[in-house]
Amino acid sequence: MAAAGEKARVVLVGGGPAGSLFAKTMEGHADVVLLDPKEYLEIPWSELRSMVEPSFAERSLIYHKDYLNDTTIVTSSAVNITEDAVLTADGQSLPYDYLVIATGHALTSPASRAERLKEFQRDNGKIESSESVLIIGGGPTGVELAAEIAVDYPGKKVTLIHRGPRLLEFMGEKASKKCLDWLTSKKVDVLLQQSVDLGSLSDTEKVYKTSGGETVRADCHFVCIGKPLSSSWLHDTILKESLDSKGRVMVENDLRVKGYNNIFAIGDITDIPEIKQGYNAQKHALLVAKNLKLLIKGLPNSKLSTYSTGYPLALVSLGRKEGLAQIPFLTICGCLPGKIKSGDLFIGKTRKQIGLSG
Ligand SMILES: Cc1cc2nc3c(=O)[nH]c(=O)nc-3n(C[C@H](O)[C@H](O)[C@H](O)COP(=O)(O)OP(=O)(O)OC[C@H]3O[C@@H](n4cnc5c(N)ncnc54)[C@H](O)[C@@H]3O)c2cc1C
Repeated sequence: MAAAGEKARVVLVGGGPAGSLFAKTMEGHADVVLLDPKEYLEIPWSELRSMVEPSFAERSLIYHKDYLNDTTIVTSSAVNITEDAVLTADGQSLPYDYLVIATGHALTSPASRAERLKEFQRDNGKIESSESVLIIGGGPTGVELAAEIAVDYPGKKVTLIHRGPRLLEFMGEKASKKCLDWLTSKKVDVLLQQSVDLGSLSDTEKVYKTSGGETVRADCHFVCIGKPLSSSWLHDTILKESLDSKGRVMVENDLRVKGYNNIFAIGDITDIPEIKQGYNAQKHALLVAKNLKLLIKGLPNSKLSTYSTGYPLALVSLGRKEGLAQIPFLTICGCLPGKIKSGDLFIGKTRKQIGLSG
């Protein structure tokens, strides 16, 4: 434990929407170390807009050092945890009194912000130079990308192929139907219950055979299948017994990891039964910051606040002006949900939450 008079040492693993807000909220209350392999926070739900408008990413890729003033930033990955330290890929040992796991989904972005900006420019170049685009995967990423391209480049032929029986399977059937109707109205070809062999894809490929025997011609393709959780690094750690069968970290209702008094988990990595959304991840972050402040002050575990899941809200953007919202007892498609999300994609709001101008 930290010596008398010293601040508690908190190590936070993962600087996504959950981790970034947690770190910001804890500044001044503890010695916080943020460990993230990327030097920046990426607001994931802006990715598809950045592919059609690369300058959009200037506001949604935020250097950790630009919003954190009193946090030690370590740019590396966690590879192991002991009872009192986190071990990093570059050989450091980060001692902790309290540990927060916020590793969400497996990393696919480069460590450097400049490199990530270049990726968006390359993706945009691919879209611009193609007359036809194939999108593989009909979850939120594939649907939002298809919509962005259909709205910004109405002359391009977009085909969306999805292995499952309906689009947006994390939402209800009404939402799937409205989404399909919307995409069809924008002349996107949607192929359901079909797939293409991901192993056979190449950048020069222009003809794709589907599992249903169809042939799709497209000048380029984007693979938009869900990313796995970033919990494989926990398999040989003290937390291996705290993972469920899907690799999610099991938490108590005060968001402490099951079996541990001083380890918390927040965001998409948790086994909380709710739709995995950034706004929920941010709620976890605020609750754990509140609970940690109480523990640091010496209050007993019985005083910790508990988390309760809210309504299963979901909002998918459909280009710049329209969207699809699922709220209790109602699913709406069109300009009203679009007004809430699709213009700025909550980037200004997310920036303000971590103390930056919108
Ligand atoms: C297309 C799309 C649209 C979405 N739209 C919305 C929306 O409108 N509203 C909404 O609320 N949510 C939305 N979401 C969901 C939202 O993006 C996630 O719920 C949110 O990103 C979860 O945040 P997180 O911090 O838990 O995890 P992540 O965002 O996955 O962040 C994890 C962080 O951990 C780091 N990390 C990973 N492994 C390690 C390791 N071993 N060591 C150290 N660091 C590590 C990563 O670098 C990253 O910084 C959308 C998602 C998608 C894909």
